[in-house]
Amino acid sequence: MRLSQYFMPTLKETPAEAQIVSHRLMLRAGMVRQSSAGIYSWLPLGLRVLKRIEQVVREEQDASGAQEVLMPTIQPADLWRESGRYDDYGKEMLRIKDRHERDMLYGPTNEEQITEIFRSYVRSYRELPKNLYHIQWKFRDEQRPRFGVMRGREFLMKDAYSFDVDEAGARHAYNKMFWAYLRTYQRLGLQAIPMRAATGPIGGNLSHEFIILAETGESSVFCDTEYLKTDFLATPVAYDDVKGLAKAIEGFVARYAATDEQHDEKRFAAEVPDGRRYQGKGIEVGHIFYFGTKYSAPMKALVSDPAGNMVPVHMGSYGIGVSRLAGAIIEASHDKDGIIWPASVSPFDVGLINLKSGDAKVDAVCADLYGKLRQAGKQVLYDDRDERAGAKFADMDLIGLPWQVIVGPKGVAAGKVELKRRATGQREEIPAEALAQHLR
Ligand code: ATP
Ligand code: MG
Repeated sequence: MRLSQYFMPTLKETPAEAQIVSHRLMLRAGMVRQSSAGIYSWLPLGLRVLKRIEQVVREEQDASGAQEVLMPTIQPADLWRESGRYDDYGKEMLRIKDRHERDMLYGPTNEEQITEIFRSYVRSYRELPKNLYHIQWKFRDEQRPRFGVMRGREFLMKDAYSFDVDEAGARHAYNKMFWAYLRTYQRLGLQAIPMRAATGPIGGNLSHEFIILAETGESSVFCDTEYLKTDFLATPVAYDDVKGLAKAIEGFVARYAATDEQHDEKRFAAEVPDGRRYQGKGIEVGHIFYFGTKYSAPMKALVSDPAGNMVPVHMGSYGIGVSRLAGAIIEASHDKDGIIWPASVSPFDVGLINLKSGDAKVDAVCADLYGKLRQAGKQVLYDDRDERAGAKFADMDLIGLPWQVIVGPKGVAAGKVELKRRATGQREEIPAEALAQHLR
């Protein structure tokens, strides 16, 4: 993409309305535009990031055996009357009437909707287990939408729903999602810590929140900082290995980690040595629940068990805040100059900076590199604008692509370009023709 043609409205000034760094940087980098409180348009740069986060989430859901569907944003109120949640949900639910005066709602979550689909087709334990997920916009009329996309009213969530004939099966389904979550966050460059959590309005008896430590978070958390040293991707566990998976997860959750609702000060002090006790804020980037038959019993989602009895199916639900993650990743990865994207979600792989647009030789080298990098499979943002070098550097640092290739007249005369790593600021000169190979 040529920056001269790209729609990337960066701001030099810090927007006054933004209280936390991720919100400021998302506005300054031209990633999102507020439409009304807690409701955002995603501009080209922001949408690229959102899509890439979504893709990592999708790949790990698929790898765990979950299957993607797409349920609607607008749901009939009658479904929620069946579960009893229509009246319970309160003001966070946006209630709508259609032209026939039928009660509808903009879905804040999809337990009822998926239960209705399941009960329409599945009758026997032989068809289980199943896990269906979608990545869809939700609406919750939050009392205090704030911090940009971190606490929006309209936000993108991945929500998965598991179905098993009994509790043992459901626990394995829970463990599979647990594992997929650990892998997902690590691929996103985050250290998310699973914390025992209260189950709240979703109900049930087993629940973990996945939380990244950040002073700008809204959850109060207590945990052992040893968690930050764990490499989940390095631990191979097969999803169909029921015992192995349970054991691996038990190992990971043995250390202390709890949100304030579940916190036990005595245990915290006794179990976590001095110097390893984190007590502070965190950002909830995911939440998983096993809730048994809470929805299947009232909604009559029944399957035959091996003994031939019709029993309500055991369910779990598993959410990831996809749009919140865009902000959370920035909270975890930035410096005074701007965003530092992990390579896995960066909107482009490489920023190519032409220090003297209009200079025939520099233009030619840039055009050549632009082509070759793209041929090598790289997504390239080429700053071909007629701007001061300082402005180009500032914009490139602000938007945080992992690599910058800097091409100026001096280097071109010597057959060299400069390669800068955004995360460290390290620069090296390399021959122009070696660049594409080098970045591979
Ligand atoms: P919170 O405690 O932050 O209000 P929640 O517990 O109500 O979140 P869940 O129902 O567990 O949220 O939703 C699953 C995930 O969706 C959360 O872990 C979070 O990452 C994301 N999420 C929830 N509410 C919002 C919101 N208002 N804006 C952006 N993301 C959200
Ligand atoms: Mg939650």
